[in-house]
Amino acid sequence: MVPDDVQEAVRTLLRWVGEDPEREGLRDTPLRHARAWREYCAGYDEDPGMHLARTFEEVAGYDEIVLLKDIPFQSHCEHHLAPITGKASIAYLPKDRVVGISKLARVLHGYARRLQIQERLTAEIAQAIWTHLKPAGVAVVIEAQHGCMTGRGVKTHGVGMVTSRMLGCFLEDRSSRAELMSLMGY
Ligand SMILES: [Zn+2]
Repeated sequence: MVPDDVQEAVRTLLRWVGEDPEREGLRDTPLRHARAWREYCAGYDEDPGMHLARTFEEVAGYDEIVLLKDIPFQSHCEHHLAPITGKASIAYLPKDRVVGISKLARVLHGYARRLQIQERLTAEIAQAIWTHLKPAGVAVVIEAQHGCMTGRGVKTHGVGMVTSRMLGCFLEDRSSRAELMSLMGY
């Protein structure tokens, strides 16, 4: 269900950019637009950290870096509501708990399906893993393109923005960090 006032807001926007919301191609657009935005922002309905609640204590002596590399994602910037598309690499060095690897991607998507700035998205993912898994170290590197830069304003096509957040050993220990960066391909 999409409330009338939400659909009306989209019609107002369409009129404001010079369109006729009553023409055939646009008739159902307010409804579709509203539903799409509920989906883009579905992350508000969850606490992404909860994906990390079920951990496995048996790591069988594994004390090396766990890395999920180049996970594609989409988010939206809070300044222009424009798409942010990119990929994230998420790593941690377990101390005594691990999670199913797909859970790291779920944490990413939980925070990405909100209005974001790339710096905060990066930090929130790292913090959730740090808090729930209490690992020896966490690293999140995100490389993304911003629709508000590529499609408007300075129109810088193909320019990616890179952000990273390191915690624990990846922040404090030079050799852990070097090992991580080479695994990530940086
Ligand atoms: Zn923006």
